[in-house]
Amino acid sequence: MGLPVEVAEIVGETREWEGRRWFPPGSQLAVCLSGGKERLADLTDGELLEVAAAARRQTSWAQARELAAIAELAGRRADGASEDDPRVLSAHESVTDEVAAALAVTGNAAATLVHLAERLADELPGTRQALEAGRIDLAKARVICDVTENLFGDVVGRLEAVALEKASGQTSGQLRRRVTRMARRLAPDAVEERKRDAVRGRRLEVWENPSGTANLALCDLPPEEVHAIYNKLSAAARGLKADGDPRPLGVLRVDLAKRLLGGAEFPDSVRALLAEAVEEPPEPQPADDVAVPALAAMVERRLAEVRARVSLDALPAAVRQTARRIHDDLAERRDAVCRGGEEAHGRPGYRPSTALRREIEARHATCVFPSCNRPSRRCDLDHTIPWRPGSTCRCNLAPLCRRHHRLKQSPGWTLHQIWPGLLVWTTPAGAWYIVRPDRT
Ligand SMILES: [Zn+2]
Ligand SMILES: [Zn+2]
Repeated sequence: MGLPVEVAEIVGETREWEGRRWFPPGSQLAVCLSGGKERLADLTDGELLEVAAAARRQTSWAQARELAAIAELAGRRADGASEDDPRVLSAHESVTDEVAAALAVTGNAAATLVHLAERLADELPGTRQALEAGRIDLAKARVICDVTENLFGDVVGRLEAVALEKASGQTSGQLRRRVTRMARRLAPDAVEERKRDAVRGRRLEVWENPSGTANLALCDLPPEEVHAIYNKLSAAARGLKADGDPRPLGVLRVDLAKRLLGGAEFPDSVRALLAEAVEEPPEPQPADDVAVPALAAMVERRLAEVRARVSLDALPAAVRQTARRIHDDLAERRDAVCRGGEEAHGRPGYRPSTALRREIEARHATCVFPSCNRPSRRCDLDHTIPWRPGSTCRCNLAPLCRRHHRLKQSPGWTLHQIWPGLLVWTTPAGAWYIVRPDRT
């Protein structure tokens, strides 16, 4: 057992996982991860999360080595390749099979690996370094590789730089959306062409699940068509539910889709619902608030100071209190900036107006839990401070899915909206996550 924290401070013993947040991966981290001084059972909650994060960085580092080795081999085979001979495999196909056999993966998986390895070696040096340093994981490296595929050199470089700016704090899905948006801006024609190509390859896929069920998917359709289908099914499912159908919405959607594809006849009421016009999604609006980046930096700095100052036992409570204090200190300025909007600050009633709902949904395209991908249109608009005393206003509303709505109310978790659209989560382990409006 280690010493109690207060004693440890006095005698100057440092804990093995203290301050390892950005300890780089490599041989030294491998030693730390192999056990040693402290067993996992002796670590605090916060330290356990540090160990998990460190192991993940180490994995990224190992994957960077795997890809570098593959790229080196592929390069050698390409150099030694003779003239095209239709009777034998190309050097590229051949090295793919060498990799497939050595790693015991399918030919498709090997081809994907070789391609990723080559792109990281040639065109995406920043991504390669970020993976090797554990700042991103393999899934995010793949996203950057995918989104920059078939684009021109300078666009690839700019997209990569933009992607890496925020990649460590984003999930691969969030990263994909952000970089895709940027790619559309920088190279609209190339992105459109790539999409047309993908749509030409549209298909129906079937695969089986471990539970003994199977999935059926319509793949590579234009997204607007997919959303239109989904929204129609949702409208019809909600209609059935309103008429007293006990099945959950998700089940109703798939049952309706199954009957439609099976050619079943529907009652007129359902047909009418299915034919209903689909509402256009709102145009995302630019965040109008220049204060957000500065405030986010201030929160980060103040919470980091707290972490440096207090003992591990006291950390969760100290982080919670500080987040709360920052929120309270900003109350007057927040009210003032909020009165400048089109809707009055603190509109009467519990339900937001349609305009306000759209503004909030445009501000955050997904649930505001850091890793959640649930589209905000399918979330509830949560009153960050419960209604009464909290108000129905842009400074107190944010999309939360059901799950994260429950998480917010769970012991040890807090959520503060310190500025309209700028939210701070604190966790039971004393970590924090700052969530900004999408456009800042
Ligand atoms: Zn307000
Ligand atoms: Zn969520």
